[in-house]
Amino acid sequence: MVGEEKEYYEKFWHTTAHVFANALVELYPNVKIAIGPPIEQGFHYDFELDKNIDSKDLEKIEAKMNEILKRKDKMIKTEMPVAEALKFFKDNPYKVEMINDLAKEGETIISIYTNGKFVDMCRGPHLESTAEIGAVKLLKNSVAYWKGNEKNKQLQRIYGIGFKTQKEMDEFLAMKKKAEENSHIKLGKELELFVQSDVVGKGLPLFAPRGAMMMQVLQRFIEDEETRRGYVRTRTPVITKAELYKISGHYSHYKDGMFHVEIEDGEYFLRPMTCPHQFMIYKSKQYSYRELPLRLGEVASLFRKEQSGELHGLIRIWQFTLNDAHIICTPEQLRPELYSTLDLVQFCLKKLGIKEYWYRFSKWDPNNKTKYVDNPKMWEESQAILKEVLDTVKTPYTEADDEAAFYGPKIDIQVRNVHGKEDTLFTVQVDFAMPASFDMTYISKDGSKQRPVVIHRAAVGCLERTIAFMLEQTGGNLPFWLAPEQVRIIPVSEKFLDDAHELKKQLFASGIRVEVDEKDQTLGNKIRNAQVMKIPIMLVFGEKEKTTKEYQIRERSGKQYKLKYDELLSMLKKMDAE
Ligand SMILES: [Zn+2]
Ligand SMILES: [Zn+2]
Repeated sequence: MVGEEKEYYEKFWHTTAHVFANALVELYPNVKIAIGPPIEQGFHYDFELDKNIDSKDLEKIEAKMNEILKRKDKMIKTEMPVAEALKFFKDNPYKVEMINDLAKEGETIISIYTNGKFVDMCRGPHLESTAEIGAVKLLKNSVAYWKGNEKNKQLQRIYGIGFKTQKEMDEFLAMKKKAEENSHIKLGKELELFVQSDVVGKGLPLFAPRGAMMMQVLQRFIEDEETRRGYVRTRTPVITKAELYKISGHYSHYKDGMFHVEIEDGEYFLRPMTCPHQFMIYKSKQYSYRELPLRLGEVASLFRKEQSGELHGLIRIWQFTLNDAHIICTPEQLRPELYSTLDLVQFCLKKLGIKEYWYRFSKWDPNNKTKYVDNPKMWEESQAILKEVLDTVKTPYTEADDEAAFYGPKIDIQVRNVHGKEDTLFTVQVDFAMPASFDMTYISKDGSKQRPVVIHRAAVGCLERTIAFMLEQTGGNLPFWLAPEQVRIIPVSEKFLDDAHELKKQLFASGIRVEVDEKDQTLGNKIRNAQVMKIPIMLVFGEKEKTTKEYQIRERSGKQYKLKYDELLSMLKKMDAE
């Protein structure tokens, strides 16, 4: 959700949160309600209560909320001076603390909202009336520390959501159910792709052979495509002296996000990106304009220190693999290079089967002096070029202030994930700042030294995240070219094992990823196992296949037909190339 729709739902869910608090207070008069902000999908509410809310209680609260909604209360705003508010809320330590915090910030008036008999301090905004809320649902209960600080008291937290109609609620709940079924963590386990281990650490997934195969396929795909498009490759170290990051600006802008390593002769870091390393390669000789653009690619292991509470599956991890590349070009080459970069991005999206995406033009915020490189002229010029490029390509785009990288504006490739939330899959960033920090130059036509421009880009993004996204979008029914096991040969009995292996050898030699099911199980069980593993093509092998050399094909979808060997091979090769 963006723009007006986002604002509307913030008001909507904020109002739903008031209805929730109202219900809570009516059911449990001794409850001490803390805060209940709208979140990306719905709201959550934190409160202190001597009783632990369970799922039965959630139903009770929900029923009470529905009862309150029937009253169609107006949301009425009033104001109280601080002293009066402190008196009014004196029995609630959380409200008292918030009022005192506001007073410390210089507020003298506290804004109050009333719906029916329920009064709460709140900044708003809200819907005009609770009558707009047609359906509510409490989703789960959890716990949270007051103000998110673990030194504070632990409160109960309940998540909920509301919609205008029951139909919208049903659609949301159906999407939520699908998201749970398609969770890449669940599928990763079922399809034996990756595991997590407590002794290895959170946020550090281990890829099992099937998952590692997917990583390899994805990496080969992008490396080959980049080579076709004039990229050359580098290999650079993951561990690097602090000095490099002092030049790049990461030391001052991004130090908290990097893993620090103390080694005898000084301070080192695990690298969070590949750019500074590739720039050192660029600087190792004097380039001329004739040699530009230089497109340096590296599928690199990178490290970023996410909060451990934020770590999630393959999406938020400490070590990840980025399809990183930097295009070093003259300012005149920036436009054509941006066009061809977006062309590569679209090629990758098509290959991955991602049809619904849009661009987000992420700009700086001139008022945020600490986050961005201080060079207003550079920002305005580079943003103008990006805008021009975006206005020319057909893909729709949105604009976002204060979302740029610290060194320049960027184009994010946005998708909607299985939870219905907006997600950034890949990025293309323009950088006028780092070439100056690194004193990168090229010899121009007139023999003078000039400053190049850099495009940072990731065309299939972070491989782990892309795999997670693909799993959730397809529910594990991966496209043939990306499936770790593309074909499974199922011999009807042990008697046909040797022939099955002979067939495997032939297909394997043609580049098809094929396995033979050697388990001593019934045919029905073997077919079921292959279906559970979401193998795209099953090939049942028995006496008839052996004598006629015609094979019984069973697709993942259930479709069945017979093919001769040559037909089979050409079909598989065609599917692999799609
Ligand atoms: Zn409110
Ligand atoms: Zn970079």
